[in-house]
Parts: sequence; C-alpha cells; structure tokens
Amino acid sequence: MTVSKPLTPPGARTALGTAHTKASCGGELVLQCCGQCAQVQYPHREVCKHCLSTELDWQVVSTGGAVCASSLLQHSLEPFFKEQGAWLMGSIKLDCGPVVLAHLLNECQQLNECKQANTRVKVINLLDASQQSVLLALPENASADQTTTLQDRLTNELTRG
Ligand SMILES: [Zn+2]
Repeated sequence: MTVSKPLTPPGARTALGTAHTKASCGGELVLQCCGQCAQVQYPHREVCKHCLSTELDWQVVSTGGAVCASSLLQHSLEPFFKEQGAWLMGSIKLDCGPVVLAHLLNECQQLNECKQANTRVKVINLLDASQQSVLLALPENASADQTTTLQDRLTNELTRG
C-alpha cells in the first residue's frame, strides 16, 4: 500500500529567498531596503540596484500599489497548481518603487477587465503551504471572505483524490 504525500507549492528557495521568509510577517510587506540610498529592492539581491551598496536590510514597506498586468495561468507543470486549475498572477507597481510579481485575487483581474486601469491593490507576504513566503495582491477594499478564499488556496496542502 502506498501513502500519497499531500501536495504543496514548490518549496525550494535560494539563500535570499529563505532570508525573506524568515523576515516576513503576516499581513505586512517586507522587502530589502538599502541602508545608503533607501531604495526598496525587488527581486531580492546581494547589492543595491541603485548604488551597489551591500547594506541591504529587510524592512516593512508600504503595501500599496497598482496592477500593471495580469495573466490567468491555465496550466502548470507543478502538481499543486495543476490540481487547483486556473491561477491568476500579476505584476504590481508598488508605491515604494519596485514592480513585484504576486498571486492575485480574481477580483483584481475583473476590475482591470472593466477598464479600470491601474487597479489599486495591497500586497502582503503570506506563508504558503510549503511554509515559504509568497506575495499576495488583494484589492484595497477586498472583503474578508475574498481574502480568505485565496489564502486558503495557497496555504492548505492538497490531498490527492
Ligand atoms: Zn542603494
């Protein structure tokens, strides 16, 4: 008899990705900030993209931003996402500077399709079912039910049917 292991999102991270997970806290957005020029960094890096300083610290930054683009992924090679069906991802221009890639609540795409360009969102860190930090974008006025639906999809392991 074989026991199937629950499905989780991919958990492999670089050393910087692991450091990001350790620095992240729920409901906030934590990214690297330069101690010399104060530029917020994304993706994670060893030196500042602006001044090349190595003085980068994890800090809580503003969660506000606007959707640049989104895409509904219809297929994934990763079993966790393959089981869940269509998955919405997007790029978000943060008010604090960088453009980040994040999981999007479906409501964000619906607003964009209604020609409300630059849909305002808040981006937060979330620990997924692999206990790794991922970025989650929610409409600024998302209800608790909408937020919970996407968080549940990301944070719960899937059992194979
Ligand atoms: Zn710098």
